[in-house]
Amino acid sequence: MGSSKGHWMEPEGIDIQFDCPTLKCDEIIDVAAERAYYDISAENESDMAGYSKVNVTCVGCKREFTIEGHAHGAGTTYSVTDYPGVEVSIV
Ligand SMILES: [Zn+2]
Repeated sequence: MGSSKGHWMEPEGIDIQFDCPTLKCDEIIDVAAERAYYDISAENESDMAGYSKVNVTCVGCKREFTIEGHAHGAGTTYSVTDYPGVEVSIV
């Protein structure tokens, strides 16, 4: 037994997927995003909205994309930064 703190509980991730927005690139990008939590114990409403961010590189075109997750009362929505037209689905 070591003396490590033992991060036993990994933060629960969420698998999301989107079509690569690069022209002529047909990749479907899968990424495990961090779950964004809506913190109802926060004092200010602006602090309640959960936020998470993950970077992923497309294996097809090698471009890097940033996916943002926003938690709100009804759930979490994910979007690709700079590509508002891309639909991100939770798988
Ligand atoms: Zn691509």
